[in-house]
Amino acid sequence: MAVLAAIVAGVVLPGLGMVWADSRTAREQIEPMIEHRRDSVLSLTASALAGPLRSGATAEVAALLKSALQDPLVCGVELRSGGVALPPPMTARCPTDTPQVWRQRPVEAGDQSVAELRLAFDDRVLDQLMRDRRNALMRLVVVQMVLGAAVLIWVLNWRLLRPIDRLKSQASSLARADNLAAPRVAWRRQDELGELGQHLNLARDRIEGLVNELEGSNAELRRLAMVDQLTNLPNRRLFRELFDHALAVARRSQHPMALMFIDLDRFKHINDTLGHPAGDELLRCIGQRLRGAMRGSDIVGRLSGDEFIALLPDAPAAEAIAHTALRVIHAIETPVPLAGKPLRMQISASIGVARYPQDGEGFDELLRHADQAMYRAKAAGRGRFAMYRESEPEQAPTTDGELAQALARRELLMHFQPVIDTTTGQAVGTEALVRWQHPREGLLPPARFIHRAEECGQIHALGQHSLHSACGQLALWKAAGFHAGSMAVNLSAGEFRHEHLPRLLAHLLDEHQIDPGELELELSTHTLMADPEFTNARVEELRAMGVALVLDDVGSAMISLSRLGQLHPAKIKIDAALVARLPQDAEARATVHAIVQLARSLSITVVASGVETEAQRDTLAAAGCHWQQGFLFSRPVPASNEPLWATPHPASIARPLVVQRGLIARTSSKRSKPH
Ligand code: C2E
Ligand code: MG
Repeated sequence: MAVLAAIVAGVVLPGLGMVWADSRTAREQIEPMIEHRRDSVLSLTASALAGPLRSGATAEVAALLKSALQDPLVCGVELRSGGVALPPPMTARCPTDTPQVWRQRPVEAGDQSVAELRLAFDDRVLDQLMRDRRNALMRLVVVQMVLGAAVLIWVLNWRLLRPIDRLKSQASSLARADNLAAPRVAWRRQDELGELGQHLNLARDRIEGLVNELEGSNAELRRLAMVDQLTNLPNRRLFRELFDHALAVARRSQHPMALMFIDLDRFKHINDTLGHPAGDELLRCIGQRLRGAMRGSDIVGRLSGDEFIALLPDAPAAEAIAHTALRVIHAIETPVPLAGKPLRMQISASIGVARYPQDGEGFDELLRHADQAMYRAKAAGRGRFAMYRESEPEQAPTTDGELAQALARRELLMHFQPVIDTTTGQAVGTEALVRWQHPREGLLPPARFIHRAEECGQIHALGQHSLHSACGQLALWKAAGFHAGSMAVNLSAGEFRHEHLPRLLAHLLDEHQIDPGELELELSTHTLMADPEFTNARVEELRAMGVALVLDDVGSAMISLSRLGQLHPAKIKIDAALVARLPQDAEARATVHAIVQLARSLSITVVASGVETEAQRDTLAAAGCHWQQGFLFSRPVPASNEPLWATPHPASIARPLVVQRGLIARTSSKRSKPH
């Protein structure tokens, strides 16, 4: 609109102004010209008449007057002499009411005036001329206006409006989010608008660069927000997203899944003793191993600190899950060399497993249940896994046939762990713990097959094997001159109840020349609380043989005081789950105190199991429990001719120590070989 107004103002108004100004000046120019012409006509006609009038040529005079009348300015002619009109009389071309002006002039022949010539001039001529001139000017002005406007519009359009339009769209594409998708506008012109366009292009390039930079940083930020920096594994947030996606697929295809909660045991100890950089190194390495122990389709993440998480999106059988859990446990337990130092860090992990759909429908529920299962695994002695739902027959990754074959192929073997008197640092006994060197799975802990052996009737054969191996080892040590104290063998309920147990024991004691007092049978509260009548009889029978009984899990399972008094075991073992809460937990400290007092009052020896730290060792010793067993002193190790604990280790003695042991092993040390 403004441009149109400018065109009107710039082209039309000057034209109209010109017309107006011309009409003002034209009259002043034309009037003298007409007057001059009139004078010329008058004087020419007068001079032409002089001759004919003198000679009296009337016809010629009339012809001259007639020709004067032909002049477009002249509209009347008259000749007078002495005030009288001469023939021919006045002739007129115009009607009398036409505006006219008269001019006269004497007709002179020599020095003598012979007549007076009067000419009437048409007075409309000036207006007519003015009109004609104005019309012509108007036409010119219109043509000039049209041409001017056309040129102006063309110039405006090509040189101003179109470039401005391009600039506008260029600027608006800069303002829009999709500006990078729009094609680049090329500017060849060198004027201001061209420069402006080129500046916009530069601005676009700059914005493009900034956007790319921003996208790069955003992607990095997203990665940082989704990925654990230390291990490069998905963090909780990303893991959850991946889980939700896998859950949707599992729901559609009705596939079961398994969620594993993997918690490193005593990781704090590594941080406290070797420092956080070593702890980080260990976590990084474990992250890699976890990935390596899983299938490509499994998802592994780090929840926080020493907690990892894994999703098995396609885990149909509990057996397959157990295989994976064991693979993970073994992968984690392999010692990790500490960069630049002759040290190897070793750690174990406890795993809890919850399965979809039976253990929960969503991430939070499954995670909670896996966490609970993990705590059970920890309470059961760490370095193992537990399913959220227990007592599932398929939990053991073995078949009955396999177990029988294992016995036949001598795949079952014993590891031994000493009981240390912390006042002297000497071993006062040894516990025999069975292992299965599985051909595919590697070394399996008893939790993986004892239960199954009970169910499939192999337990007696297994017990026989454990008792036989333990007694044989004790006999060897004794023969080699190492006094290892008593040898404790764990018995499950099935073995304890087996009718041939007394006969078997008598046979073994005799065969290996072992004092009955040197053999201890470790029984769980559960075993001793069931079927009191039979249990009493069996306990009496064994006691009569001189074999000592040990109650294994005091502090975590309930046994009535009267029953304890009745059964009167030679020893009670404070359960590892209770020891694990020392020294911080006041209630655990109080319970330990009570157990020690009770044992003392009943003249029962008390032993603590699962001692992993010096603080636990010292707390227990302060409570009066000096016989202790646990990773702090030694992990269960395979049999050897000379027991590793034949010479006491400084960590065994309950006084302030400088040397650190436990989860840290020197590469050169044979003592710390893990099970
Ligand atoms: P248990 O009698 O309570 O045995 C102690 C368990 O604690 C062992 O686990 C041992 O490796 C572990 N342990 C020892 N010190 C520490 C420690 O400082 N920290 C932690 N976290 N754990 C420690 P393992 O060898 O897996 O044995 C598990 C259970 O299997 C035993 O519990 C026992 O009840 C049973 N068992 C072991 N051997 C036999 C066997 O020959 N026959 C039968 N029937 N049961 C056995
Ligand atoms: Mg035991």
